[in-house]
Amino acid sequence: MAYTNSPLVSYTKLSPNHSGQRNHAIDTITIHCVVGQCSVQTLGEVFAPTSRQASSNYGVGYDGKIGMYVEEKNRSWCTSSASNDHRAITIEVASDTTEPYAVTAKAYAAMLDLVTDICKRNGIKKLVWSTDKNTRMNHLNGCNMTVHRDYANKSCPGTYLYERHGEIAAEVNKRLGASTTTPDTGTGSTSLKFKVGDIVNFAGGTHYSSSNATSGSSVKGGKAKITQTYNGKHPYHCRAVNDAGAYVSGVYGWVDENTLTAISTGQSATGSVEVGDLVKIVGTTYYSGAAIPSWVKAKNWYVREVKGDRAVIDKSEDGGNAICSPIKVSALAVVKKATQSAAPWTPAVGDIVNYSGSMHYSSANAASGVSCKGGQAKITQIYQLGKSKHPYHLIHTGSGCTVYGWVDAGTFTKA
Ligand SMILES: [Zn+2]
Repeated sequence: MAYTNSPLVSYTKLSPNHSGQRNHAIDTITIHCVVGQCSVQTLGEVFAPTSRQASSNYGVGYDGKIGMYVEEKNRSWCTSSASNDHRAITIEVASDTTEPYAVTAKAYAAMLDLVTDICKRNGIKKLVWSTDKNTRMNHLNGCNMTVHRDYANKSCPGTYLYERHGEIAAEVNKRLGASTTTPDTGTGSTSLKFKVGDIVNFAGGTHYSSSNATSGSSVKGGKAKITQTYNGKHPYHCRAVNDAGAYVSGVYGWVDENTLTAISTGQSATGSVEVGDLVKIVGTTYYSGAAIPSWVKAKNWYVREVKGDRAVIDKSEDGGNAICSPIKVSALAVVKKATQSAAPWTPAVGDIVNYSGSMHYSSANAASGVSCKGGQAKITQIYQLGKSKHPYHLIHTGSGCTVYGWVDAGTFTKA
């Protein structure tokens, strides 16, 4: 058949790193994580030198732009397997540099568009995913999604994308089978009640394998964490967690908004730590699991932020340090309660704030920003609080203020 390339590509920099024409028809999709929140241009530079000996057919930047490095007719050098790359379209998606190698909402949405387009042009009528390695590697039962970790000692595509392969297949299949429906607008809605990272109570009921699935399976209720949001019938992807925040058996799928209730600020396992409290550390590790240094344990700290089971300690009691470090609420003991002049405030979408910062960014994980003027502004989006570099999206509302982009936590106060 005649090979074509995706019309969604906005940047092309063909890499010399490929084997020439494929020896197998395109019938497989292999999604990779870049391990870097890079642009399609940067990825093009990475694949340009022959010394690199690596490439992919396509790349998706952190900003949702799509680049092409090896034309579809040619075999890329991407998955550590000649036989796989002869039959697969390989896609590198910009991701965080550490587990779970999360990708931005824009990159995820663009990747869905790209995969759908690849399937349509190459006659792939349905994507079939399997969580079984043998089924994937041998393309059993129609399985046509493969992953790099099956062919090399790597975690690629990372936990974030690996766990979403079923969801990716479901969403792409919906689009392939429903060509008359309007396309989805993508992830990252600002109108949803809960956001990624929120801890909620799931009432129990039905969880679904995709955000727009028509039938699901029943599951018990309990504490859960929102791991993804999407503008579908069932807008929240939840996973059951225990009081320590670890994943446990229970809900693991997409649920309706009316099945969830908020676990309000500070109502955690201990329920006692609040913003402004002076605390001492009784645990041994930070929220990330990293060990707490002894000099940190030796001091008392003021709590800057509390959300579910996660607190952020910042200034030391002696005023000598500011560490801004996430830690489990259960790892803290209150030494002195905050003098409650005002109720603690958790910034939310729609809140008006006094922004004191001077730098806004084009994405929540951008490496470099642009200077802007402070003043009154509105929070229009919050992205991966505690994980992204600049989790709050602000748009100026006051005169003189010019912020219109992503900013760091702690750069504003409630107006
Ligand atoms: Zn890979």
